[in-house]
Amino acid sequence: MEPEEKKHKYEYIVSACLCGEKTRYDGKVFVKDKIKKLVDQGKAIPVCPEVAGGLEVPRLPCEIREGRVINAASEDKTGNFVDGANKVLALAKKHGIKKAILKEKSPSCGSKHVYDGTFTGTLTPGQGITSRLLQENGIEVISDEDF
Ligand code: SF4
Repeated sequence: MEPEEKKHKYEYIVSACLCGEKTRYDGKVFVKDKIKKLVDQGKAIPVCPEVAGGLEVPRLPCEIREGRVINAASEDKTGNFVDGANKVLALAKKHGIKKAILKEKSPSCGSKHVYDGTFTGTLTPGQGITSRLLQENGIEVISDEDF
């Protein structure tokens, strides 16, 4: 009898930009060791909803204004953000993942506060597009600031 293949069990979706992947709007690369370790241990899948939604690196910064996602050139990028959020949700559902650790302040990944749409560096309470969709679908979103 063939040995039964061990099924992989992911526990988390994590923001790719916290694990050294070059996905940020400004092209900078950062690593949060504690979160990268989850990926290295096979416990977490790194994903960037904005890249998954078809946006490039680098790209103009985007902020949420009156329910739409607008970039610094006043172009509406809401479609990319929603598309990326849906792809992240599908990935979580496919693997039965119930928790996500996402980058605070991002218009996709922020879970407690985001920039207010004025491009003046002003934060306001609120959630990014992906964070909100995941939470609406029963996935706990943990801010990277709290992990
Ligand atoms: S969308 Fe999320 S994962 Fe992608 S760069 Fe922004 S904060 Fe990081």
